[in-house]
Amino acid sequence: MKKRGAARRIGVVTEKEYLTPHLIRVKLKVDDIHDFQHTTPGDNNKILVPPPGVKEIIFPEMDPETGKMLPIPEHLASSRRTYTHSGIDIDRSELFIDFVAHGEEGPASAWAIHCRPGDVLGIMMKTGSKELFPEVENMLFVGDATGLPAIAAMIKQLPEHVKATCVLEVYGKDDELELAGKASTTIHWLHNPHPEKGSELAQKVRSLPLPKESRFVFIAAEFDTVKDLRGYFRKEQGWDRTELSAYSYWRAGVAEDRSEKDRRAEKASM
Ligand SMILES: Cc1cc2nc3c(=O)[nH]c(=O)nc-3n(C[C@H](O)[C@H](O)[C@H](O)COP(=O)(O)OP(=O)(O)OC[C@H]3O[C@@H](n4cnc5c(N)ncnc54)[C@H](O)[C@@H]3O)c2cc1C
Repeated sequence: MKKRGAARRIGVVTEKEYLTPHLIRVKLKVDDIHDFQHTTPGDNNKILVPPPGVKEIIFPEMDPETGKMLPIPEHLASSRRTYTHSGIDIDRSELFIDFVAHGEEGPASAWAIHCRPGDVLGIMMKTGSKELFPEVENMLFVGDATGLPAIAAMIKQLPEHVKATCVLEVYGKDDELELAGKASTTIHWLHNPHPEKGSELAQKVRSLPLPKESRFVFIAAEFDTVKDLRGYFRKEQGWDRTELSAYSYWRAGVAEDRSEKDRRAEKASM
C-alpha cells in the first residue's frame, strides 16, 4: 500500500468514446501523471465540472487569515461531483473517467455528453493506493450503471481463485459492458430504461443464494436500493459490517451535492 496524499489537477480532454450507448469514457491529459502511478482504479475522485463554455477551473481555496473559503464568481463556479477512477495510462499521461449519460439536467452528465477535445475538468484525487475489497473466496457485486465503472475495475483486479457473482442493472441490452478478469464470474444483467423511477436490483439479489463464509458484498447504486440491501445483508441475513461496502452513488430527484448528507447518514446507519 502506498501512502495517500491528495493532489489537484486540470484534466484536458484528449478523447471521448461511447463504451455503450449510456456510458462515455473520457480520457484526460494531466500534468505530472507519475504522482498518480500508485492509485487504484475503482477508487473515486472529486471532479469539478465547469459551467458550459467555461474553460477555466477555480479550485476551492481557504483564506489563511479568516479560515473561510474564498469566494468564486458565480459564472465561473464549478459543480463538484464524485466519479470513479476508471484507469490510468502513465505513458500517455492520461486518466480515464466513465460517465453515465443520464441526461442534460445534471452538470456532469451534460458535460460528458457535450465535451470536446481541449475542454477542461478539475480533478481532486488521492495519490496513493486503496484496498477496495478484502481477501475472500466469494465476492458479490451489486451495482447500477453508476457502480459499473468501479465494479469493472475491481473485476479486473480479482485473483483467479475468487468466485464472483454480479447483479448489474443497466439501461438496456446494448449497455451490458464486457467485464474482463481472471476470476470465475457469473453476471445477472437487469435492464431498466428509467433508473430514476425505481430499480429491481434489491429484489433480484434477494432471490439469489448467498455464500455462507469467506464473503464480501460491494454495493453501489441509487439511495433506496442501497438502503434496502444494507438492511437485507446486515439485519435479515446477519452479515457483519466488515463483510460489506455499500454506498449510494446518487439519489433520485436530488443533485449530488444536495444528497451527500443523507447518503452519508444512510451509510452510517448500521
Ligand atoms: C463514490 C462514487 C463513485 C461514482 N462513480 C461514478 C462513475 O464512475 N460514473 C458515473 O456516471 N457516476 C458515478 N457516480 C455517481 C455520480 O456522482 C452521480 O450520478 C451524480 O449525481 C452525477 O452528477 P450530475 O451532475 O450528472 O447530476 P446531478 O446534478 O447530481 O443530478 C441531477 C439530477 O439527475 C439525477 N441523476 C443523477 N445521476 C443519475 C443517474 N445515474 N441516472 C439517472 N438520474 C440521475 C439526480 O437524481 C438529479 O435529479 C459515483 C458516485 C459516487 C458517490
